Amino acid sequence: MTQKEQTLRIGELLVSKKAEDSKKKLLRQIPSVEKILGRSEIIPLCEKYSRPLVVKALQNRLEQIRKTIAATSDPVDDCIQMINPTQKDIENEILILTSPSLKKVINATGVILHTNLGRSILSPELINHLTTVAGSYSNLEYDVEEGKRGSRYSHVEKLLCDITGAEAAFVVNNNAAAVVLALNTLAQDRETIVSRGELIEIGGSFRIPDILKRSGSRMVEVGTTNKTHLRDYESVISEKTAVLLKVHTSNYRIVGFTTEVELPELVKLGRQHKVPVVNDLGSGSLIDFSPYGLTQEPTVQEVVKTGVDVITFSGDKLLGGPQAGVIVGKRAILKSLIKNPLNRALRIDKLTLASLESTLRLYLDQESVIQKIPTLRMITMTKAELDGRTSRFKEKFLKNLPDTITIKIEDDLSQVGGGALPEQHLPTSVLALQSKAVTVQECEMRLRDHKPPVIARINKDQLRIDLRTVAEEDEEELADALCTVFNTGT
Ligand SMILES: *Cc1c(COP(=O)(O)O)cnc(C)c1O
Repeated sequence: MTQKEQTLRIGELLVSKKAEDSKKKLLRQIPSVEKILGRSEIIPLCEKYSRPLVVKALQNRLEQIRKTIAATSDPVDDCIQMINPTQKDIENEILILTSPSLKKVINATGVILHTNLGRSILSPELINHLTTVAGSYSNLEYDVEEGKRGSRYSHVEKLLCDITGAEAAFVVNNNAAAVVLALNTLAQDRETIVSRGELIEIGGSFRIPDILKRSGSRMVEVGTTNKTHLRDYESVISEKTAVLLKVHTSNYRIVGFTTEVELPELVKLGRQHKVPVVNDLGSGSLIDFSPYGLTQEPTVQEVVKTGVDVITFSGDKLLGGPQAGVIVGKRAILKSLIKNPLNRALRIDKLTLASLESTLRLYLDQESVIQKIPTLRMITMTKAELDGRTSRFKEKFLKNLPDTITIKIEDDLSQVGGGALPEQHLPTSVLALQSKAVTVQECEMRLRDHKPPVIARINKDQLRIDLRTVAEEDEEELADALCTVFNTGT
């Protein structure tokens, strides 16, 4: 260290020592909860709300103050007012404590099955039924006709069989649970054969090798990343083999020099060796999207026709219902899955079941279902439709923004999301907003701060609003948020 560097270092140390000292002093000066509660402006709060609530709010506020002080690096003299929460501070804190944390947001990202924003949304018609079931007793596991115990799966089994053509069906908490249950029931302490091209990871730490391990099955990998042949499966199949597993690579594609064994061939191989075939289908579409110009995905109905023993898929991806794991397939095998004690731990809840049942009923009419299920409606919305909506929105709501804001309508792409149809680009129109006075990051943050929060995308210096994922009933609220954000600080 040179002399100059040493001097600088000593200077820094002195500053940080001073900062530490003044921080400690300030922390010591923070008044106690009791003391604050005794203040004349705080006493009315205990009458308006309950005392324990005010105490909790106060504790939270003081905790934040301590954290803020601890996090500052500058000397903190002169901050005596920050350690004394005002009546308003405490009321704000009470509001936070009494408002739900899980709440509505407006999704303006154009990502339809946005996992972080709750994937599929339910249509208003279904919600009515959901609230009835939530607020009353129901025949969840009661056979009203016979006056005796019934099965919770009875409400969806026939529907699922009718829609998919499967012999038997039931549901669990989510698709991850469905896969675990199938593998644990069929392949515990035995082998599961799976192609190296299908050892996928889905967001949220769902990884096939880990899931297999936790299910108690030994993984036998075959083939290579890009090519797996039938002979690869054949060469390792033995009396130790319990399952042939096929996993739909929902969220990525291997393209180029590739070979995979199609499901019908695998089913045939399974038959020959009397080994059940399990297909984790991931998104599980119940309708054919190709007439809408979208990539051909195998529908569950087509997969059932291959004769595969077990198919699992999500309730809240392309099906457009609540989070759930749907299992369809051969009756005898599904019976053993239902009986597995693990199923009790992965059991579907009645609110999910109510939403899933009503969602599935909409599929009985394959024509109107597209309009009635929000996820399907969003996926099939055309570019022309979005062009129209976006320009009408701009005309109707954004006329009076200050001229420091430029608003353009631009072509962009929405996404299906949720690891479904990864290559499927959905052409869309977006509102591209830019402020001369406020950075795009600041605008995006302010939108998140709005009530309800609006989640938008940033593209270079523009804030992008995709109406595909915004319900028409929410347009006014969205406009309100945009006007507030762009009118302040412009
Ligand atoms: C999404 C997905 C899962 C996990 O489904 P969840 O319903 O989110 O539990 C499992 N496997 C595949 C192939 C998937 O695409």
